Amino acid sequence: MRTFEKSSKLDHVSYDIRGPVVAQAAAMEAQGEKVLKLNIGNPYPFGFSAPKAVLDEMVDRIQSSQGYSDSKGLSEAREAILSYCKKKNLPNVGCEDIYTGNGVSELISIAMQALLNDGDEILIPAPDYSLWTASATLSGGNVVHYICDEKSDWYPDLDDIRRKITDKTKAIVVINPNNPTGALYPREVLEQIVQVAREHELIIFCDEIYDRLVMDGLEHVSIASLAPDLFCVTFNGLSKSHMVAGFRLGWMVLSGNKEIAKDYIDGLVLLSSMRLCSNVPAQSVVKMALDCIDSTKEYLCPGGRIYEQRECIYNALKAIPGISVVKPKAAFYIFPKLDTERFHITDDEQFALDLLREKKVLIVNGSGFNWPNPDHFRIVYLPDVELLKTATDRLADFLSTYRQK
Ligand code: PLP
Repeated sequence: MRTFEKSSKLDHVSYDIRGPVVAQAAAMEAQGEKVLKLNIGNPYPFGFSAPKAVLDEMVDRIQSSQGYSDSKGLSEAREAILSYCKKKNLPNVGCEDIYTGNGVSELISIAMQALLNDGDEILIPAPDYSLWTASATLSGGNVVHYICDEKSDWYPDLDDIRRKITDKTKAIVVINPNNPTGALYPREVLEQIVQVAREHELIIFCDEIYDRLVMDGLEHVSIASLAPDLFCVTFNGLSKSHMVAGFRLGWMVLSGNKEIAKDYIDGLVLLSSMRLCSNVPAQSVVKMALDCIDSTKEYLCPGGRIYEQRECIYNALKAIPGISVVKPKAAFYIFPKLDTERFHITDDEQFALDLLREKKVLIVNGSGFNWPNPDHFRIVYLPDVELLKTATDRLADFLSTYRQK
């Protein structure tokens, strides 16, 4: 009988939401067990909701959203995004440079497909949001990971970036604020990355989906605003800042020196029209969503849920012997380090499975984010403080006796 195998292009792709740990959690739930899930960055199931005005807008606009839109998106949505780009000082952007997508996810995949020929190199951070590595790999690119340095607040290691550039390197990806570390990069670090990109004529891709989820009075700077002479592609969307991940609405903005990328832009236009357009009802709420841009601010200040949950998880993790952790400044992720010698850990996936089986706590092991050593894991701190405390109590108890080998 004829059988079908997956494309060999998928052989070297790892993507964090799949894999044996999640499969094991699903099997346990199917048996009626209750798993504490600290693994998915989806705000809605944890009691976060979109601003009412955004939900009402979707209801009001559904009737008129039945047809396809222009393949880049409704002009009303793109004009609203353009105003947002102006606030963030993105240089040389017009409505025609803005593409809406079914989430940032779809646009990452389009951006990589349009760019990479087999063997082209692209610099992607480690740890990364692994869709970037997966999309670049599937597009035929060779991903070269540069290290973000835990000892420097998880900022990109500029020397490592410089060391890894070759004549095949086409672009560098910057994820700021970062998933999974929760780091926010200061202007000086971004300027240094721009300088390297300038010297080596690299495209900068910047994933800024968490730019409105910043704490401690800090300000997010768009790297594209520092690079008017370079070609930059900036990604953003409503999934996180407006808690509407299910609406699937993201956007991508081309800025700076577009002259050097004319041919690449032709590719983007082609791929974007091949998928006809992004979800039109979701596009129809973009203007309203960007009008209530401050809707999440209350979560991020002292007394607000995300802020207090960060304090809770950070303090609880810090108190566990054998764990060290950098305090995140943005988004809702934390990426603690395990003392692998103390726990004899050589396999972080095994650690995640053991924790799940024994304590019913689901986290994502660091290698799911292309982190090269078996010594990290990511916690999503969207669940409320009570659940986070239960989970960290169980983790502390588990680690008090855990020895992998
Ligand atoms: N980029 C980063 C850094 C993310 O963490 C995520 C989702 O977790 C995405 C992109 C995907 O976002 P979207 O829902 O817009 O596809």
